[in-house]
Amino acid sequence: MKLKDECGLFGIYSRSSEIAEVLHLGLFALQHRGQEAAGFALSDGRELRCYKDLGLIQDVYAKGNVRLFKGQIGIAHTRYSTQGESARPENAQPFILRRAGRWLALAHNGNLSNATQLREELLSDGVYFNSTSDTESLLHLYARALGKSPAEKLNALAAKVLGAYSALLIDGDRLIAFRDPFGFRPLVLGRRNEDWIVTSETAALDMVGAECVREIEPGEVIIIDREGLHSQRFGPQRPRRHCVFELIYFARPDSRLFGHNVYEFRKACGDLLAQKETHEIDIVVPVPDSGLPAALGYSRRLNKPLEFGLIRSHYIGRSFIEPYQASRVHKVRMKLLPLREVLQDRCIALVDDSIVRGTTSRAIVHVLREFGAREVHLRIASPPIVAPCYFGIDMPTREELVASTRTIPEITRFMGADSVIYLTVEELQYCAKDSENFCTSCFTARYPEESLPSEHPALEYLLPK
Ligand code: SF4
Repeated sequence: MKLKDECGLFGIYSRSSEIAEVLHLGLFALQHRGQEAAGFALSDGRELRCYKDLGLIQDVYAKGNVRLFKGQIGIAHTRYSTQGESARPENAQPFILRRAGRWLALAHNGNLSNATQLREELLSDGVYFNSTSDTESLLHLYARALGKSPAEKLNALAAKVLGAYSALLIDGDRLIAFRDPFGFRPLVLGRRNEDWIVTSETAALDMVGAECVREIEPGEVIIIDREGLHSQRFGPQRPRRHCVFELIYFARPDSRLFGHNVYEFRKACGDLLAQKETHEIDIVVPVPDSGLPAALGYSRRLNKPLEFGLIRSHYIGRSFIEPYQASRVHKVRMKLLPLREVLQDRCIALVDDSIVRGTTSRAIVHVLREFGAREVHLRIASPPIVAPCYFGIDMPTREELVASTRTIPEITRFMGADSVIYLTVEELQYCAKDSENFCTSCFTARYPEESLPSEHPALEYLLPK
């Protein structure tokens, strides 16, 4: 599976002013959430230093000499660009602004579904933009919002803003963390000795030796200052809509999110998938690395051997592969090394977490056959993706999604597979247990009420109930 999340967040409020290393280490645990740009902002409550650029976290950290920055309050961000948007250094986060004698710095994970309207309104109010990012609008809206307290300002902001925002904000001498009323993207609170930490995933807390205190609630703002930590509610009441794709694919398997252990969730999806098996399988081959936990659950349930018929090369990145004018199959071969001895003359269940366009999966099926597989049965541990996400995951258009216009037999033919089995939405919801708290819009094309502007094009594609 190949999708891009848009961001990872890590913030700390400390008694020490030597926090640059911790920020770096914590953010490094979130590199999988975005590999295009990174940024750091540190404040001592009066002055603020920020460095951000295109590149991987460790390169940006080194290039900006961030280890020399001092301050008790810090936020850090790693980013992938949204669809169709080329990599631009000015879109890297955090965004900073000086307002009424105070520094503000904002880092955001998510996507504002009415970003165009918000930007137009701000432009007509005379706001100057340095970037094309919706996060810059969010910062201006906060800075201009009426109200004395952060919760009052966020109430005003939430009345205008639609979509997904988990965010970290330095506001003068305070660290503020807030999550939109639906709670699409994760945000967790941790403690390390006297330090407070807020980050996207618990794996980042583990990385810096912090304890997880709890998840920040949808529609909750946490304010951390010299007096300690204060929590308040803001925005309209909404049903929880945690992104189920975080559990399926995006989050690290060693994270615990939305009340689930991510690794165990993926294994449970694979287990359920195996219970639908209709073919006699010789071996189970995961698509590395994302299909591995589901393949493990699947193989255990069927009592069939899990074999690494494809080994992922760890020495090749997107930037190496993309410029080549090679076929998709050849590009897959550069990344995934097929083992002929494992595949030869076997009936294979090829297990992956999800399929988006289907072009990579099709190439993998082709490669398995080329290396001797007798039959290839594609097993997908989530439902068919039929609609794009507008809440922070970079998905292709509806037309480009392989399952948006094809039946299962048509997908099977497109893939060149012997059979294809997905989980149904109901089966995914069964694995999620508290299913009413999850967003499944990309599997149903039904978006939560009040999450999109009324004239949004996605609403034209609603599937019948
Ligand atoms: S539409 Fe899909 S990817 Fe987007 S928030 Fe909902 S479940 Fe997650």
